[in-house]
Amino acid sequence: MSVWEALGLVLAQEVKTDREYPPFDRSTRDGYAVRSNEAVTGAQLKCVGEIKAGDTMREALAVGTCWQIMTGAGAPAGADAVVMIEHTSREGDLVRFDRPARAGQNIVPRGSEAAAAQTMLTPGVRLGYAELALAAQVGAVRLQCAQRPRVAILSTGDEVVLIDETPGPFQIRNSNSVSLAAQVRIAGGEPVVLGNAADRIEDLGQKIERGLKEDALVLSGGVSMGKYDLVENALKAMGAEFFFDAVAIRPGKPAVFGICQGKPVFGLPGNPVSTMVTFELFVTPAIDLLSGAEARALPLVEARLTEALQEKPGLTHFLPARVDWRGRVPEVKVLRWQGSGDIAALGKANCFLVVPADREKIGSGESVTVLLRKDVV
Ligand code: AMP
Ligand code: MG
Repeated sequence: MSVWEALGLVLAQEVKTDREYPPFDRSTRDGYAVRSNEAVTGAQLKCVGEIKAGDTMREALAVGTCWQIMTGAGAPAGADAVVMIEHTSREGDLVRFDRPARAGQNIVPRGSEAAAAQTMLTPGVRLGYAELALAAQVGAVRLQCAQRPRVAILSTGDEVVLIDETPGPFQIRNSNSVSLAAQVRIAGGEPVVLGNAADRIEDLGQKIERGLKEDALVLSGGVSMGKYDLVENALKAMGAEFFFDAVAIRPGKPAVFGICQGKPVFGLPGNPVSTMVTFELFVTPAIDLLSGAEARALPLVEARLTEALQEKPGLTHFLPARVDWRGRVPEVKVLRWQGSGDIAALGKANCFLVVPADREKIGSGESVTVLLRKDVV
């Protein structure tokens, strides 16, 4: 895999340095390379030449002299400091120093960032821009990466139609498959969208069978208490073992997780906001593990609540909210919403405010925890 294409992938090899870093004593400023004990306040040194970034420098610094040097150039042997040009004045060849140089100033010594053949990246590391730059720096232009886990997405429900169809008066478009595919991508997986299954055991069974060919299967809908919520039964009939079949959160209480024919399967509730929240909480970490990486922690941050709120205790609530970062302390406000079917409200939210199960009232000004929507903040 080319380094240009590896963004967000998980590394499956070690990356070592090809040489020391920096490979030479590197000047970090434009100025004069000096012996620090000679460049005292008021001293004048003869400038004997100029070193540009990229110049091959083989000459040592002679006593009583200095070299003009640019950022990124190699300091001559014998120089132990670079004095910034701003702290000097020059007449002809003579450079006068306004303040004393300190040994080591503005020079990064050869090998101080990394030794030769030092391991810089290890398997399991997720490749962000800095990791990719590091690989590029040491010449690792091709990287062995873990395959993105393929995550099958299957929506369910007799009322669900394709997004490019015109729904009947009591039908809805399959927005969950779209949000799930986006969330799979963001989590580092490869979505495999299987369409929609009718609320019938046979159709569910057939489509689940297809989904189990992938690395993981995520279903939406059909896990609540309704007469036509058949996903759990269909999975059980195919030998699924469940690790949980309800969670103490709202939205998202009916979410289930199990292993079916060796593959992890998530049954997420169909209400769009429930689907989104439960994906963030349960599926994202699973995709990390399937990618060969450690599960990332949830992006939880503290913010100050600006309007008091009241919730029924008993479940941990995730409320669509908007965090404002402009002040010294982030401030958060819960948005008005019509419950977990309200995609429009979520379109205005950049986070979910987390209300602990034992809290009924939270006063204005109190510190609260919010779960960030990583895709928009
Ligand atoms: P369920 O979990 O199957 O009881 O569905 C709960 C609610 O979510 C119902 O109002 C469904 O119409 C809605 N819903 C189910 N599946 C989808 C989907 N794929 N896209 C959008 N909404 C859905
Ligand atoms: Mg349904």
